[in-house]
Amino acid sequence: MPRANCGFTVAWSEIFRNRFKGQPLKGVALSFGSHTVRGEAIITRAGLEGGAIYALSARLREAIGSSGQATLRMALRPDLAMQDLMVQLSRPRGRQSLSNFLRKAAHLSPAAIGLLQETAIASGVPLSSLSSASLAGLINAVPVELNGVASIARAISTAGGISFNELDADFMIRRLRGIFAAGEMLDWEAPTGGYLLQAAFATGAAAGRGALKWLSRSMG
Ligand SMILES: Cc1cc2nc3c(=O)[nH]c(=O)nc-3n(C[C@H](O)[C@H](O)[C@H](O)COP(=O)(O)OP(=O)(O)OC[C@H]3O[C@@H](n4cnc5c(N)ncnc54)[C@H](O)[C@@H]3O)c2cc1C
Repeated sequence: MPRANCGFTVAWSEIFRNRFKGQPLKGVALSFGSHTVRGEAIITRAGLEGGAIYALSARLREAIGSSGQATLRMALRPDLAMQDLMVQLSRPRGRQSLSNFLRKAAHLSPAAIGLLQETAIASGVPLSSLSSASLAGLINAVPVELNGVASIARAISTAGGISFNELDADFMIRRLRGIFAAGEMLDWEAPTGGYLLQAAFATGAAAGRGALKWLSRSMG
């Protein structure tokens, strides 16, 4: 069953996943293709999940389905213009560790700094060797390679299911007389934020009314 509003897997290093699993990356902007979503992403042992990820999940799922991977761009300080970020990062670092410097100069959380370090290690270019311009560029476009869709056990909802064409106007399955379908059994997809529950309740109520109608007809 295709997952919707779901997380994705990332080949995190053991050090990164053990240290940051469960931690949120708040106020980020995630871009995939021409689509950008603001919100929160949560680091999991397997990869990433959370509201902003779910909002892009249909597109990411399709890209992974066709090419096996999808590269997200994550802006960790989306409200800061590149120029302002560069100015802040051009301040002398003195004897501070790079993590401390980034925390103070760019107001990044430990998880965000961990993600930058993880990316730098994967690319073979140490963060400390980057100019303030390159660092500013990286902070607002961290590439994160997603290599799969996370397990259905953690998905918020599903895509696919019984097609609406298979139902009559009362939500009865045409080929299974007396059997009614509603909610996630049906083939539809919606974002989180109450839309899924609303559609589950609405189709449930419609199927319930349909079942009553069917019973009164078959009994009378
Ligand atoms: C962690 C999480 C957070 C979510 N947050 C939101 C949100 O904020 N807003 C939103 O709109 N939606 C949210 N959703 C999605 C929403 O909960 C679902 O879309 C909605 O509950 C689907 O309703 P449903 O009746 O189709 O299925 P379900 O709620 O899954 O109900 C199916 C029921 O059938 C029962 N069942 C299964 N098999 C059998 C069987 N063989 N015999 C008898 N009973 C069986 C199950 O135990 C279950 O009680 C969230 C989902 C999850 C998992």
